[in-house]
Amino acid sequence: MKNILLTLGLISTCFLVWSQKVHYNLGMSKPQSHYFEVEMDLEGFKEKVLEVKMPVWAPGSYLVREFSKNVNLVKAFDENGQVIGVKKTSKNTWSISKGKASKVKVKYEVYSFELSVRTSFLDLTHGFVSGSGVFMYVNGHKDRSGTLEVIPYKDFNQVTTAMTRYQKHGFNYSFASYDELADSPIEIGNQEVFSFTAAGVEHTVAMYGPGNYTIEVLQKDMARIVESATGVFGQNPNKNYVFIIHNVVDGQGGLEHTSSTTLSVNRWTYSGSAYIGFLSLVAHEYFHLWNVKRIRPIELGPFNYDEENYTSLLWVMEGFTSYYDELLLLRAGYYDPNEYLSKLENTINYVEGSVGSRVQPLAHSSYDAWIKAYRPNENSANTTMTYYSRGAVMAALFDMMIISHSKGVQGLDHFLQALYDKFYLKQKRGFTEDEFRAELERFSGKSMKEFFEKYIHGTEIPPYNEIFREIGFGAEYTGVATPSFGASLRQDGGNLIVRSIRAGSSAEEAGLSVNDEILAYGDFRADQKGLEAMIAEMKEGDELELLVSRDDRLMKLMVKISLYEKPSFHFIPMKNEPQKDLLNYWLRTI
Ligand SMILES: [Zn+2]
Repeated sequence: MKNILLTLGLISTCFLVWSQKVHYNLGMSKPQSHYFEVEMDLEGFKEKVLEVKMPVWAPGSYLVREFSKNVNLVKAFDENGQVIGVKKTSKNTWSISKGKASKVKVKYEVYSFELSVRTSFLDLTHGFVSGSGVFMYVNGHKDRSGTLEVIPYKDFNQVTTAMTRYQKHGFNYSFASYDELADSPIEIGNQEVFSFTAAGVEHTVAMYGPGNYTIEVLQKDMARIVESATGVFGQNPNKNYVFIIHNVVDGQGGLEHTSSTTLSVNRWTYSGSAYIGFLSLVAHEYFHLWNVKRIRPIELGPFNYDEENYTSLLWVMEGFTSYYDELLLLRAGYYDPNEYLSKLENTINYVEGSVGSRVQPLAHSSYDAWIKAYRPNENSANTTMTYYSRGAVMAALFDMMIISHSKGVQGLDHFLQALYDKFYLKQKRGFTEDEFRAELERFSGKSMKEFFEKYIHGTEIPPYNEIFREIGFGAEYTGVATPSFGASLRQDGGNLIVRSIRAGSSAEEAGLSVNDEILAYGDFRADQKGLEAMIAEMKEGDELELLVSRDDRLMKLMVKISLYEKPSFHFIPMKNEPQKDLLNYWLRTI
């Protein structure tokens, strides 16, 4: 009896689940108004009151963007077309009193006029949908699968997205959950579409906007990047993958998704050194399909779309990915080892030479992405250090530790493979910082407690030389105290403006502030070249009078030049044979 009841209960639960349907229509009848028209058809929901919600952020871009600010005219109707009451109950929640209605249609429009990889856009040239800013979800039912029909503007004939198209006619797609819908950007318009196969995966590339690209070259080079990235893990979890590329004036980078990415690049990026930068961006976003979309901190999924999702591990997600976006280019043959080493040296010198590195621990920079990294101000260089660069440096150090400990048999690739296997494939979850550290200790063969305290949760300079020497080259400290002014300037037409001031510098001591206009130095009318040339000649203790305008009030400030030591390192190859093998293994030159 008990079993029968349980079975009956199970059947009725299944029936309830199967009978619930979510379908979206996405229209754009008047692109010049920049409004997407959205309809949500909800069927089989038993609740008398349904809440629909719009996310406040787009995963991968750690800032509350308040996407509901673009939503207007939210209305609801029952199966007979009768209006149902809709009440707004929070900044991103609408409450629908549906009573016993078995079907509900929710209609709303979304103003979309911000072309970036994490926001949505619509005009007469194309539409771009970043799902978390266009599609609402039913509260408590994000796990519901559903369907979407895109109804393009009459002059648009292409739709590109990673979602599965389930009908040959029209643009009808299915998704397994709201997370997939929100994680699948959609490009609608007359984009140029091409494809290539690499690592056994069919890749589709949608190009919005003209550019100096050649399809055959991109097919070959992007395939090399894909093969190189897949080589790190030995497996590629996707069957299909989509690149949406916006060729524009102000390229902004990319945003990762599970089975796709959106890249925003300058339309003339496809030649010379800019092209290497483009391939590095491709490598970065592609690498994310593993690192952050599948290998992830426990806090980053399932997502809470209502508020900030804090983690101390963005330096692993973004830093490791930044490390690999360069390493993959080396492995794919776009850099030679010396070019690669010089880039790493520059990254270390940028990180350690920044005042913010001594103020903001890496773990904090991750946690505070929401309030600092994505909200920089004129003082950011004094107080923050990006987890992209410092995280990449940590990845390099961990790689060397693992290579050294394993005597050239394993590297960071194997560590990432282990995270992928243990947490994503087997446990189907993210990891805590403690679990991450424990795994790292297993691979490096030593306690990482002190390392984390000093360099991840602390702000000390890691022992570069000590760690680098284990795999065959030195990182010599070359910092020297030199006379320094400490203010950076910009010429704004005829006006010389202070752009930033280093904390503790001569400029700060003198009382100079950001946005001050420097009118004269010594006996000269100010111009950037002249002032910088004079400062370059000055010695410790030399003084220079500046005439400054602040809020249209004139003031005289006396700058006394002091010494400043910027930490920096220089790489030195060694000739010790055993270590040389390790270096060759790291740089894949064996
Ligand atoms: Zn990234």
